[in-house]
Amino acid sequence: MRVSKLFTKTLRDAPADEVSKNAQLLIRAGFVYKEMAGAYAYLPLGIRVVEKIKQVVREEMNAIDSNELIMTSLQRKDVWEQTGRWDDKVVDIWFKTKLQDETEVGLGWSHEEPIVEMMKQYVRSYKDLPISLYQFQTKMRNELRAKSGIMRGREFVMKDMYSFHASAEDLERYYNKTIEAYKRVYDRLGIGEDTYVTFASGGAFTKFSHEFQTVCDAGEDVIYLHREKNIAVNEEVIDDAVKELGIDKNELEQVKTAETGNIFNFGTQKTDEMGLHFTGEDGKQQSLYIGSYGIGITRAMGVIAEKMSDDKGLVWPESIAPYMVYLVSIGENGQKAADSLYDELSAAGVEVLYDDRDERPGTKFADAELMGIPYRLTVSDRGVEAGKFEFTTRKTGQTEELSATEVKNRFTV
Ligand code: ATP
Ligand code: MG
Repeated sequence: MRVSKLFTKTLRDAPADEVSKNAQLLIRAGFVYKEMAGAYAYLPLGIRVVEKIKQVVREEMNAIDSNELIMTSLQRKDVWEQTGRWDDKVVDIWFKTKLQDETEVGLGWSHEEPIVEMMKQYVRSYKDLPISLYQFQTKMRNELRAKSGIMRGREFVMKDMYSFHASAEDLERYYNKTIEAYKRVYDRLGIGEDTYVTFASGGAFTKFSHEFQTVCDAGEDVIYLHREKNIAVNEEVIDDAVKELGIDKNELEQVKTAETGNIFNFGTQKTDEMGLHFTGEDGKQQSLYIGSYGIGITRAMGVIAEKMSDDKGLVWPESIAPYMVYLVSIGENGQKAADSLYDELSAAGVEVLYDDRDERPGTKFADAELMGIPYRLTVSDRGVEAGKFEFTTRKTGQTEELSATEVKNRFTV
């Protein structure tokens, strides 16, 4: 992509009302536009990051035999009434509206009840099980406070997955498999080392749910953590955990974190409430066992922006960077050489953002840094004569002199 053709604009300052670091950086770098508190538009650079995060998650969910679908944002009141969760006193973040004929409908903040309802049409016997389904959906939540930028949206992208099983053992097996898949997701996003599987409240069948908590100063949660023993407990349930798991609270340090994922074992609670049954091998009717598994896609992007940034701007990990290389030309010969390097690298499948604007090199360098593109390639008249290009790594700031072949070899094997 040529910068001259890219819809973007970097800004010196973020809007005065934007208090969160992730949103300040993402707005300044031209990744998101703030519509209002808790609602952000994703611009061309931003959507590339969102799509890359989704693709990592998609690959890992497909690898555990889950199937992608997309459910609806408009939801039925009667479906949620079956579990009592239509009530605003039970769920306090509903956006509700009415059809023209006055029928009340909700805007999806979760799809747990709607998917259980949907499965009544598809699950008949044990032969139909197990099933795992997932989607990427814009969830709507009327959050009381939305001051954490894209880490807490009133609309935000979530990956939610639901699995359906004939027995508690089968659900547990899949639940544990999902934990491993989630670990691979966080590793690939570059936050694996800072993300802990954390005991949290909200299990139905099991006493605890599991949250994936990523160490982050801007996070809204606090966990009790033992790094060596790899024990993490959300402070909400610490006293319960001390009792249940025999943990010594004094051994644990308190750390600020952001909940980037959360998984639940519901057992048969929801299917009992909603009447989702199957015919077992013995011919008897039984309730299904279900699990529910979320990842905050846009929250993860916000957490990564918070953690991987410096005074010059964003520093994306390669796996989710909008482009891999920022190509800058200086001088007339530089431009010719940059043109052909752009074509060659693009043909080799390298994602290059080519700054072909008539701007000073300093301006281009500053934008490359603010946008957090992992590598910058500078082609100058002087370099062209010597057959060398400046190759700068964003994360370390280190510059090497490479030939065209060496540059290509960096990205293609
Ligand atoms: P929180 O405690 O932060 O309000 P939650 O426990 O209500 O989140 P879940 O219903 O478990 O959230 O949703 C699954 C995942 O979606 C969360 O782990 C989080 O990563 C993400 N998420 C939840 N609420 C938001 C939000 N308002 N903005 C962005 N991401 C969110
Ligand atoms: Mg949660």
